[in-house]
Amino acid sequence: MEVEQNQACTELLELVIDGQATQEQHQKLMGHLEKCEYCREEYLLSKSIQESLKNHIKPNHTPSGLANSIQTKISETASLK
Ligand SMILES: [Zn+2]
Repeated sequence: MEVEQNQACTELLELVIDGQATQEQHQKLMGHLEKCEYCREEYLLSKSIQESLKNHIKPNHTPSGLANSIQTKISETASLK
């Protein structure tokens, strides 16, 4: 039962991160994130990677140690699971 629920919210999460979610889906996820720690971690991690990628595209705007900080976030999240 829990696995099914996780799959559903992971799909919702992916839609929002891909920017393909409707406003209703987006709001639903935001409400869900307050209750679901797993999705909140996933969401924050994906967002930070997305932001980093965006910054990475811009010239002269690549913070040093970026890859390291992403790696740290990933392993932090992995260790929480
Ligand atoms: Zn969830």
